[in-house]
Amino acid sequence: MALWITDECINCDVCEPECPNDAISLGELIYEIDPGRCTECVGHFDAPQCVQVCPVSCIPVNPAHVETPAQLLAKFGRLHPDRAPHPATPAAASASAPPPVVPPVATDQRPGVPSDRLGSHGSGASSPPSDVSTVRG
Ligand code: SF4
Ligand code: SF4
Repeated sequence: MALWITDECINCDVCEPECPNDAISLGELIYEIDPGRCTECVGHFDAPQCVQVCPVSCIPVNPAHVETPAQLLAKFGRLHPDRAPHPATPAAASASAPPPVVPPVATDQRPGVPSDRLGSHGSGASSPPSDVSTVRG
C-alpha cells in the first residue's frame, strides 16, 4: 500500500526531504503523498522513512491503494529503471532469493579399484623400488 497523510499534519516539513521517491509535496493545506510514487520505501529502506521522522504519527497506510510487496518493488523499478533495489528491503530479498541448492552427483570412482590406488600418478609420493639390493664394498 502507499501511505497517506492525515489532517493531523502540522506542516513541520521534515518528511518531504526524506522521501527517496519524491512522493511527498505540500498540498493546499497540508503535505500530501502521491500514491503513484510511494513504494512504502520498498527498494530503498527496510521501513518507511516518512513514518520514522513524523513527530505526530499522522502517516498511516492508504487503504485505497492496496499493493503487495512485489507490486511495490515493481513500482520502484518503474521509478528507478537504472537502479537495483537495496538487498536489505524485504521485498527485494524475497524477489532475489537464490535458487535451491542441487546436491552434487556422479563421483568418478571406478568399481573394484581400491581408493588408495586411484590418483597416485604424479603425486610425488613415490616409494623406493622393492628390488634395490645393498652394494657391499
Ligand atoms: S513511505 Fe517512503 S516512499 Fe512512501 S511517502 Fe514515505 S518516504 Fe516516500
Ligand atoms: S512529518 Fe508529519 S507532521 Fe511533518 S509535514 Fe510530514 S506528515 Fe506533516
